Amino acid sequence: MSNENKVLSLMASGSAMYTRRVSVSKDPDFLKVVDKLRSADVSFMNFEGQIGHPDAYAIKPYSFASYFFGEPWIAKEYAWTGFNLTSLANNHMNDWSHHAIEESIKQLDEAGIVSSGAGMNLTAAREPGYLDTANGRVALISIDSSHEQGEFVQPPMASDPKGKFKGRPGNNTIRYDVVLDAKRETIEKLKKIRKELNLDKFRGREADTDKTLFFPNGGNPGLTFRESDEPGYTTISYQKDVDENLKWIKNAKEMADYVIVSHHTHANGDKTTGPYAEVPADFVKKFAHDAIDAGADICLFHGMHGKGIEIYKDKPIFYDLGWFSWMVETLPRFPYDLYDNWHLDPYNSLPADITNARPAGQFGVSPLWNQGFLYDFKMQSGKVKEIKLHPMHMGRHLKLWERGLPRIATGNKAKEILDRQVEMSDKLGTKIKIENDIGIVQL
Ligand SMILES: [Zn+2]
Repeated sequence: MSNENKVLSLMASGSAMYTRRVSVSKDPDFLKVVDKLRSADVSFMNFEGQIGHPDAYAIKPYSFASYFFGEPWIAKEYAWTGFNLTSLANNHMNDWSHHAIEESIKQLDEAGIVSSGAGMNLTAAREPGYLDTANGRVALISIDSSHEQGEFVQPPMASDPKGKFKGRPGNNTIRYDVVLDAKRETIEKLKKIRKELNLDKFRGREADTDKTLFFPNGGNPGLTFRESDEPGYTTISYQKDVDENLKWIKNAKEMADYVIVSHHTHANGDKTTGPYAEVPADFVKKFAHDAIDAGADICLFHGMHGKGIEIYKDKPIFYDLGWFSWMVETLPRFPYDLYDNWHLDPYNSLPADITNARPAGQFGVSPLWNQGFLYDFKMQSGKVKEIKLHPMHMGRHLKLWERGLPRIATGNKAKEILDRQVEMSDKLGTKIKIENDIGIVQL
């Protein structure tokens, strides 16, 4: 019997960071989440972190962000929760050396969770993961573009072998540049400033073209200005990285009923908003459309706190799924760098001191990092028919060691989480109907 008319159920959620055993929980609102994930043919999340290996080194330098070192039992906890499909391509894939990438892939595989997006070389990282279910076969291609100027200067991108070199373990990355469009006269002024400050002597001037000016910043990446009549901020991806991923999407379409594309990015904002607005970055939007044109059925993107849903050619694009679980305050150990970066004495400080050193409003303290959705899809004959949005909260009001567990939200809490999604999706032309604490998108 063909899969053609079967109904495939998919549950998706955003980034997950377990640091505690959840299988002991009797919290009824968490168990509702577990029931839904277990009942679906496919249950997806972004595995934000790495599974520890005793030989792993903390290799991410100068970071303020957590170094996520999952205990070896973490994969089994995700499997217990109901997940069977995950993306590994995100900015935490270079917290630790390659031993942890290898260990993450191995442990998830042994727990029965199909993964993609990271590997021991670039081709391995780009390769889709395939999940076989009774109601259809699903391919997952997972991509990372979470590097930012400043904190994540270099993307944790994998590389292929060449000659005697083995290649480099890491992510399937789409690199991107930030370009500032400016009027001709502004570019001329900047050229003068660059000369006046002796920045002409820095490397980078050779990057100038007729229409662009590179403004170096010492040893850090500089800024590229581009001549345009419409000034503003824009992000442009590396076409080679995009083309390679589109090739894999087309290929996966030949081998599965449904193709899911996952993309982790911290890039925000477009020409009209500038970089800090919670709207999809230009290159992310363009890539989502290209991915669907190449054969993707659903785009599940993540990395921030929700940026709305767009329906493009009858296929849904989730520009940001939000969070599934965020247990950052119970990470049991941190490397030297993190203490140092938070201005703590690395020899005399202990893990809870990091939590206390982080200012209010950052990391786990913002309500947006403590809410998310379970997205409930029904798919048939190669099409998504309906999407239900179950809002979840993570118990921000509870004790540190009780926070981060996702719980189905109801009443005012559900309304607050849903209202934000309704507003952001409306800007992308998608209507969400709310009924009994659930959001519904009809296709
Ligand atoms: Zn991230």
